[in-house]
Amino acid sequence: MLLNPIQARALLEYALKERFAMLAVNADSPAAIYDCLLAAKQAEGPIIIESSLWQLEGISFGGGDAVLGLGRYIVDTALLANSDEFKDVPALYHTDHIKGPKAKNILENAVKGVSVRLENADIRLSPSTISLDASELSNDENISFINGLIEVSKKSGRPITVEMEAGVDSGLTPPEEIKALVEGVEKNNPKYLYIFAPGLGSRHGYSKEGFPAFQPEMVARDIDLIEECIGRRIGIALHGSSGLSEEQLKQAVNNGVIKINWATDSLALRSKFAMEYYNNNAEKLVLGHKEFKITAMDNGVNQYISKNYVPCVQKRIEIQGGGNKNEGFWKYSGILNN
Ligand SMILES: [Zn+2]
Repeated sequence: MLLNPIQARALLEYALKERFAMLAVNADSPAAIYDCLLAAKQAEGPIIIESSLWQLEGISFGGGDAVLGLGRYIVDTALLANSDEFKDVPALYHTDHIKGPKAKNILENAVKGVSVRLENADIRLSPSTISLDASELSNDENISFINGLIEVSKKSGRPITVEMEAGVDSGLTPPEEIKALVEGVEKNNPKYLYIFAPGLGSRHGYSKEGFPAFQPEMVARDIDLIEECIGRRIGIALHGSSGLSEEQLKQAVNNGVIKINWATDSLALRSKFAMEYYNNNAEKLVLGHKEFKITAMDNGVNQYISKNYVPCVQKRIEIQGGGNKNEGFWKYSGILNN
């Protein structure tokens, strides 16, 4: 079931209380969204499906128009996540790494809800949680961007739940910067921030050398610091997790990471399986071969990827402590009874 922004808060609180981290997969295609929900169902754990600007503008969703892409992405995720097959899986849709000159327009549309006009109904759909890419923003710009989105939420009467990020690739975020960022939002707009993404020494992309600078113990310090600043405990998001060891991930979770973004490793798996499929089936992909059609169609390659990719996602959910959490969450939140 795709959770709305208010329901999402209960899941984020539950993850912090139960000390597990949800896997946030940067899902690149409709097939990847399906596979993530299937892996979560098999793990009996929640899942976060997220998209960045490049997916929203990509051919599978917006074809150059990110707002159209956002609408298609949410419709796709909502229809699947609310289907009989997946309605027991708590799912969030999150906007990740939206930056540049289009960011304001895209995210304001996200908050107001992308309009899906069907016959006489004008249905509006919003992400469960929202973040923006702050890598090119000053602290003041970051704060004012988020406060601006909260104002849009208030004016439009549509809820918003926010992940705020510091410069996640720039090493450890100093305490005074964390304080300035969270207070800059909370003092103007209390209780919209539910996730904070500080720099922890990890990096986006992949490092063969590993991440000697990664300091998972800083997570606990950051949570305490945020509580001192705003009087609430909120969980931490870990960006740039591809390449971290199982041990490093578990340490991060034990210290209070509730959301682990996963993109590069996921893409590496999907592209590896696609390559295997085409290499293994090259002789069938010749016109006139009796299995040409079944091999060439989109479903052929996607079935093969799914069979191999889904167990990897399920394993990753379980490493992060996210397996077997659904029954407990539905009880804790009471969402299914409302
Ligand atoms: Zn990231």
